[in-house]
Amino acid sequence: MDKSKFSMIEGHDAYLLASKLFPIYRSITGNGVRKSFDIIKTHIGDNSFKVIEIPTGTKVFDWTIPKEWNIEDAYIEDERGQKIISFSDNNLHVVGYSQPIDLWVDYSDLEKYIYTEKKQPKVIPYVTSYYKESSGFCMSYEQFSKLKPCKYHLYIKSSFLMGALSLAEIVFYGESQDEILISTYCCHPSMGNDNCSGMALSAELAKYVKSMVHRKYTYRFIFVPETIGAIAYLAHKDNLNHLKRRVKAGYTLSCVGDDGDYSIIFSNKENSLSDRALLNVMKNSAIVKRKLKKYSFLERGSDERQFNSPNVDLGITGFCRTKYWEFPEYHTSLDSMEFISSEGLQGSFDCMKQVINVLEYNDLYKVPFPCEPQLGKRNLYPNISKKGMYDDVKVMMDLLAYADGTHDLIEISDIIKQPIDKMLIIIKSLLNEGVLCKGGKL
Ligand code: ZN
Repeated sequence: MDKSKFSMIEGHDAYLLASKLFPIYRSITGNGVRKSFDIIKTHIGDNSFKVIEIPTGTKVFDWTIPKEWNIEDAYIEDERGQKIISFSDNNLHVVGYSQPIDLWVDYSDLEKYIYTEKKQPKVIPYVTSYYKESSGFCMSYEQFSKLKPCKYHLYIKSSFLMGALSLAEIVFYGESQDEILISTYCCHPSMGNDNCSGMALSAELAKYVKSMVHRKYTYRFIFVPETIGAIAYLAHKDNLNHLKRRVKAGYTLSCVGDDGDYSIIFSNKENSLSDRALLNVMKNSAIVKRKLKKYSFLERGSDERQFNSPNVDLGITGFCRTKYWEFPEYHTSLDSMEFISSEGLQGSFDCMKQVINVLEYNDLYKVPFPCEPQLGKRNLYPNISKKGMYDDVKVMMDLLAYADGTHDLIEISDIIKQPIDKMLIIIKSLLNEGVLCKGGKL
């Protein structure tokens, strides 16, 4: 296997997983979510992957878990029995959480039930109506404008049950009880970037964390329907208090599979550990091949809304490639498996893996005596002078210059503009020689 293929393994793996998840119809509740969890569990290959069912009617803070919704079929046919659109052709054709319907309507009334996107005449838009009773269909504006005046049969076979809303989590314990939270959502039907890519990247990162020989932190991955699922997770058992006590950093993953620039949605704090670690990787790491777009918390949109709300306040950062809302394919049938790629997923994986490494090794360091250490007598200074040789020495001296026990590694890396993975090799030898020690509590 050539090197480029080897370095794409996780991206390829994640793409395959996204392809398995893509055809499944998901909403905020229902069997599609459970089926998706089965596939994710198999992918991670760990029996500690746990599905949590929150029954319909459960109060979760200010919200109530809705009835479980499932759908078997939906279509519109004309007078001659010709199917105009069908759920089995594209599951975006039905408005999510539609009430069952079996009705003939005149052409003049048809419009009331149809959603199109006039500005993008060829796309099927993605539309939901979770909390307001309605029935509806989605189709391209182009198709809708060509429909002939006649009677149309609207049919949706859906059911609302006293069932449950399904969530999933997997925890990998580390040396410390302090936690890193990785959250993504699982409530969208067939769209590649939003959000098969998030589920696939999360699962792939879970595999990576599972394989780590040593973990300083405990890692909690959660897969929740957006908004209501994140709220339900926080309200479940003692989760809110537990997370408030333990979470040191965390990320919501959304739209992470395209080939565009990266995006950070800062937490409300703007400089939480999660914000700083992601920004550090984006600024300094050689692995990052694209630019970073910065968005303030005012432009939040995914579950960073819940995790950073006033009584939760976990300092969670949003991570995307092209941010939700910012690409024309967003919430349309153009957000397909062709819109995302192994390369796109690999880039996101590499960044998040690096972020995990930064979090693992971030610490306070200090020089245990006044003035610069004498590096020559410890063989840390090159005996011969050769072009390029002093680059590493400069990094070493700069690092030592700021190792005063008050700047953590992320801060020093930002000041001296060196990637943490490069600094770690130097830190190891300085620790071995006793010219640097871990200094203080973060
Ligand atoms: Zn969405």
